[in-house]
Amino acid sequence: MILDLCQLRAIGDLDRDSLSVRIEPGVTQGGLYAFLQANAPDLAFNVTGAGLDTSVLGNALERGIGYNGEKDRDLFGLEVILPDGTFVGPVAGLHHKARNLAAGLATDSLFFQSNFGVVVGARLRLRIKQEAEDAIVIQGPLDSVITTLKRAYERQLISNPTHVAEPGRAYRLGYGLLRTLWQRSPTDAEVSACFPERDSYSGIVAIYGTRRVMNAAWGEIRRNRVGAVSLSRGNASRLAMAATWLGRIGLRNQATRLRALRPILGLTLGEPSDAGLSSLDGYEGGNPDHATHGAIYGNAVSSVSPENARRACAIVKSRWKDSAFTWIIVDCRCMITVYTLHFPNHEAEAVRDANRSIISDLREAGFPQYRLDVDSTHAAGAEAIVRRIKSAFDPLGIVAPGRYES
Ligand SMILES: Cc1cc2nc3c(=O)[nH]c(=O)nc-3n(C[C@H](O)[C@H](O)[C@H](O)COP(=O)(O)OP(=O)(O)OC[C@H]3O[C@@H](n4cnc5c(N)ncnc54)[C@H](O)[C@@H]3O)c2cc1C
Repeated sequence: MILDLCQLRAIGDLDRDSLSVRIEPGVTQGGLYAFLQANAPDLAFNVTGAGLDTSVLGNALERGIGYNGEKDRDLFGLEVILPDGTFVGPVAGLHHKARNLAAGLATDSLFFQSNFGVVVGARLRLRIKQEAEDAIVIQGPLDSVITTLKRAYERQLISNPTHVAEPGRAYRLGYGLLRTLWQRSPTDAEVSACFPERDSYSGIVAIYGTRRVMNAAWGEIRRNRVGAVSLSRGNASRLAMAATWLGRIGLRNQATRLRALRPILGLTLGEPSDAGLSSLDGYEGGNPDHATHGAIYGNAVSSVSPENARRACAIVKSRWKDSAFTWIIVDCRCMITVYTLHFPNHEAEAVRDANRSIISDLREAGFPQYRLDVDSTHAAGAEAIVRRIKSAFDPLGIVAPGRYES
């Protein structure tokens, strides 16, 4: 039985002191963005690259990663219904909106990636938009890009995650961005003209603060670069001006490129979009379940190094050729390889088998997942504690049985 929570879409109690708002599971990224634009345009939330219609709460309960960091850290004050009807939630005298944790057992953490109950509401942290809201784009060979970024994190020059795309991913993304801009499918020649970087890796990371502090950080990041990387810094108004100027002097492809990149810049500014979805094969808008092609997303955790990126990539490629990669560098310690396996619908069974082998190969190589897709189970080892809590909260196994159990 599917428990459809889409209608639980209330957004309310926007509390400026604690910079938080209460949301329900049916609140989408698009819905929350529109709410903030109307009620608090000076505030923003941490958006992910998933589409406008995805659940903010669903993603955070899965411990998703947004352009401002790990989403579970944004969520607190969980209101949960246990399978026997018991309600667990914030209590006056125990909880305060200013602090994620109350005294005693931290019950919120029991309901992330666990399916011990149904979350019907929670508070989400917001951030105040700053004088300078810029994105830094870094391009070059994999080694130089990752080493430059690692240094910048170690020196605390950047704090938001960086999304680094390999050339294949950048091509697909370019295709999707042009399709969104023109409302038609571009040709290969058009994509290559606007996104010519066939060999270089591209990263994007948000920096926010006062203009002077950001100028200083930008100077330090450039001084600390390693190898042949190109660094550029932009924001929404500079991008629009540059596109107009490039168009005027006849550099049409470069102007189109900048206009097409606007939704990606938007993600770093807290503006959700369907740009990621539109770069998937066979997706022409509408319901992704009716697309002619599918995509399986997978992930692998490692420390931050180009060698780890190459090893994870080789494991995936050896099992499924048509794959694309993004590395999310979370901080100076942690890097997530995000892979996508692309397939036409008639290869659905084959790609599932390949993914099972990929997950097991990655685990064996020391690259575990940080979240599981619906088909895969936990690695053995966590079952003792999970079963004990599950049997206490949900003895009949009503909520998502098998999910996050080994
Ligand atoms: C193009 C594209 C780009 C993407 N980019 C990103 C990205 O940048 N960052 C990122 O993190 N993800 C990204 N994703 C993944 C996407 O965000 C996930 O699919 C999403 O986080 C999970 O949402 P879902 O609708 O699949 O949730 P579901 O599969 O419905 O739920 C996920 C899990 O949470 C549980 N759950 C959901 N709601 C509740 C509730 N109310 N109470 C208790 N348990 C609940 C479910 O049982 C399930 O186990 C991307 C996906 C695509 C297609």
